[in-house]
Amino acid sequence: MRKPLLAGNWKMNTVLQESVQLAEALNKLVGDVNDRDILVCPPFTAINSVAEALRNSVIMVGGQDLFWEEKGAFTGQVSPKMLKSVGASYVIIGHSERRQFFAETDETVNKKLCAALANNLHPIICVGEMLAERENNTTLKVIEKQIKGGLKGLAVGDAQRITVAYEPVWAIGTGKTATPEQAQEVHAFIRKLLVEMFDKPTAEIIRILYGGSVTPDNIKVLMAQADIDGGLVGGASLKADSFAKLVKY
Ligand code: PEP
Repeated sequence: MRKPLLAGNWKMNTVLQESVQLAEALNKLVGDVNDRDILVCPPFTAINSVAEALRNSVIMVGGQDLFWEEKGAFTGQVSPKMLKSVGASYVIIGHSERRQFFAETDETVNKKLCAALANNLHPIICVGEMLAERENNTTLKVIEKQIKGGLKGLAVGDAQRITVAYEPVWAIGTGKTATPEQAQEVHAFIRKLLVEMFDKPTAEIIRILYGGSVTPDNIKVLMAQADIDGGLVGGASLKADSFAKLVKY
């Protein structure tokens, strides 16, 4: 049985004080929840303070990206060790906004994934098709390429430490959610790919989150699907009460 994971991606929102206030408010509302995992991913600038604010909390903290090198002349980049040193235990990799605006590819996703795992961070690997790809009926082909490229060369033991997030790009921040059936079709396809690439027990362990305009109103029907193991949530994670409702679906 996979434990659900509800993850909030705050993106480039919340300055330091707002981040801490949001974390504290959320902690008051969900601090007693233990039958599901809860994660918040603030901007880099707030991870340390949010982790401090959540020091004795069930809520975990993660980064929204990382760079694969350990250290050196890479202006503006953040290494896995830096993330860990400020209290992150998870990291989002390959979010569609990074693919769209910051030239992220399956190859860079793969390098980041390996670096995260080597440093004992739990990576959340994002995949998802664009609207035109869904309309062309190439969704599953796109997902297969992203999964096979992103997870290339991964050992079974390492695969068991990853999380996958299916986020149709047309559903992110648009208010358009995939129907539970559309999401389940892709989640089941991803699980099948994971069986082929690794083995069945491994594929059964890996959590596959859905992301794309998840709200307190639609989380329950999404979570009722056999292969949906949680949510990666943008907009609805920026208000403590809506994220708390969603966590307690
Ligand atoms: C996301 O940030 O990954 C996301 C799915 O955003 P939203 O929930 O706002 O669509």
